[in-house]
Amino acid sequence: MTGMLARPLITTIRERCRVCYGCVRECPAKAIRITGGQAEVMADRCIGCGNCVQVCSQHAKQVRDSLGEIEPLLDAGTPVSIMVAPSFPAEFLDVPWKRFVGMLRAAGFTFVHEVAFGADLVSERYRQLLDGAAGRTYVATTCPALVEYVERYHPHLVGSLAPIVSPMVAAARVMRRIHGAEVPTVFAGPCIAKKAETDGFARDEVVAAMTFAELRELFRRRGVRAEDVVDSDFDPPHGAVGGLFAITGGLLKAAAVDDDLVDAEGVTADGHERFVEAVKEFEAGAIPAALLEVLACQGCVMGPGMTTRAPRFTRQTAVSHYVKDRAVTLDEKVWRKAMRRYAGLDLSRGFAPDDRRLQGPTREEIQAILSRMGKDRPEDELNCGACGYPTCCEHAIAIHQGLAESEMCLPWTIDRLRTTVGELHESHRQLASTQDALVHAEKLASMGQLAAGIAHEVNNPLGVVLMYAHLLADEAGKDTQLHTDLKLIAEQADRCKRIVSGLLNFARQSQVNLQPVNVRDLVDAAMRGVRRPEGVKVRVEHASIDPVAELDRDQILQVLTNVMVNAIEAMPNGGTLTVRTGGTDERMVFEVVDTGTGIRPDHMGKIFTPFFTTKPMGRGTGLGLAVSYGIVKMHRGEITPTSNADPAAGPTGTTFKIDLPRRGRAE
Ligand code: ADP
Ligand code: MG
Repeated sequence: MTGMLARPLITTIRERCRVCYGCVRECPAKAIRITGGQAEVMADRCIGCGNCVQVCSQHAKQVRDSLGEIEPLLDAGTPVSIMVAPSFPAEFLDVPWKRFVGMLRAAGFTFVHEVAFGADLVSERYRQLLDGAAGRTYVATTCPALVEYVERYHPHLVGSLAPIVSPMVAAARVMRRIHGAEVPTVFAGPCIAKKAETDGFARDEVVAAMTFAELRELFRRRGVRAEDVVDSDFDPPHGAVGGLFAITGGLLKAAAVDDDLVDAEGVTADGHERFVEAVKEFEAGAIPAALLEVLACQGCVMGPGMTTRAPRFTRQTAVSHYVKDRAVTLDEKVWRKAMRRYAGLDLSRGFAPDDRRLQGPTREEIQAILSRMGKDRPEDELNCGACGYPTCCEHAIAIHQGLAESEMCLPWTIDRLRTTVGELHESHRQLASTQDALVHAEKLASMGQLAAGIAHEVNNPLGVVLMYAHLLADEAGKDTQLHTDLKLIAEQADRCKRIVSGLLNFARQSQVNLQPVNVRDLVDAAMRGVRRPEGVKVRVEHASIDPVAELDRDQILQVLTNVMVNAIEAMPNGGTLTVRTGGTDERMVFEVVDTGTGIRPDHMGKIFTPFFTTKPMGRGTGLGLAVSYGIVKMHRGEITPTSNADPAAGPTGTTFKIDLPRRGRAE
């Protein structure tokens, strides 16, 4: 059958597809491609079985509309014929069949026929085919999806397809005989694949095939309601056991084909899984019967064009009740006469291969694809089926054929997600700490600006105070009270100057003067400059590395002194002060460790802030660490404290680590 390329039977509504791979799993033709995380029905591979429509919980599969072709016919005002598939009693469970026929007439159809009579004719041809089979075996061609499937995916079986038209085509030919070829005929049934048949083989005889879902929509649009219409009968000829075609095995029954378990002339298989298997078994010659009846659905009553939610046996019962009902009223003589009248109707047809099989990858190519999904060893192939393919290997083949993506592998994707989440956590943590550092740096920078401004303004007047205090003290003569007082003024003014110069340091007003410095000498110098009380023991530890680094000697000396003074002040009852040097080829690291009181966690964030001190008035200025911070930053280094102030959590004490580049580049 041709024409399917241009008009896809089924399309995906992208917004609705949640990519559950349910349709991939259910598609017997492997006609669903996942690309860009979307399930797409490939028109040239689709056989129209409608399994994907049925299985999609999101209603993301859209069936091609036929009302667009049918309504204009009705609106034209000229006669139109309709034939309904034998499964109609299973769809219109709520409407007595005569009322249903009345509704079809009310909708505007001039002639209303049963496909069942076409099925009766077709059954007779099957009987004749089998009678003359002489050892040949056939696959029944009543299911259009099956026909498409064989033509495309088992093309060499085409010769085994029973060369008989479908009941729809048979019925259409009868109707043309009765009403003339100029009366257009449409079909209503449970089937999507019938739309392809009307595009292809039946295109000159059936204008369009609508589903029962569409027929209900047609009734709605045309305001046809069961309660408003009068009962009516189908136009003759009426069907007999052909009505059973809607049920699996109906063909065998209608054609009186023996499906005896011991010595069957015919066997049946239905549903998408058994259908694929049965065709394969037929191909392998494993089916010991003359006729295989295969249906893509579990009988037409379970077709994708149905809207009813009724279970399978309720539907089958509705059909068999109808057939029984008709049998009671059917005038057998009239029926036989009709059968005789159309006995000469040509109901034969041929089939042509339409090979759509895809080239399979080599063993190596499959292995390469599997390894890309982290499946290097056989035990990595979980065959969990989450991707929609029964095995990892089949998934890999589908990837090779461009039908699937590796992301469909759930275990692999979960694994990758887990790694990504871990990496995200880590980078989030890093970002958070960087942000803290930034906030801190910004705070210090703005304080630095303020401090620098004040320092600059205060420096000159202080110089004047200091100079005159010294001059006056010299004039006052030694050993006078005035001299002592003036000395005190000079001393305090000098202290102010030192604070101010500290502030300027902190504000990075001064320059860094880099020169090679031996850090061992530097530590010794710092030690000499610090007053050490009785109870404090001192340890100096130098790692055996190159002790020379490019630093501003005076400034780093000041940093070490500040940090060591703090350490000693934190040990009023004695303890141990340890100073270490170490590092790498790139870095020079100092560690100043004390066994003192420790820094309380709530103070940790403030210690580098200018004027933050926990020491009594007159003792601490709160500038030591602020200045040290500025100096270290100007050396492009880091100063980091770690501390424990809680005796319950272990020995208290603080470590200041000063980490500087060995070959500095001053800012
Ligand atoms: P100051 O020493 O003048 O108080 P610093 O800037 O040198 O100012 O230190 C700020 C504060 O940091 C100190 O008051 C003290 O609370 C805390 N601190 C610094 N070093 C230590 C340490 N080794 N042990 C305990 N606390 C410390
Ligand atoms: Mg200090």
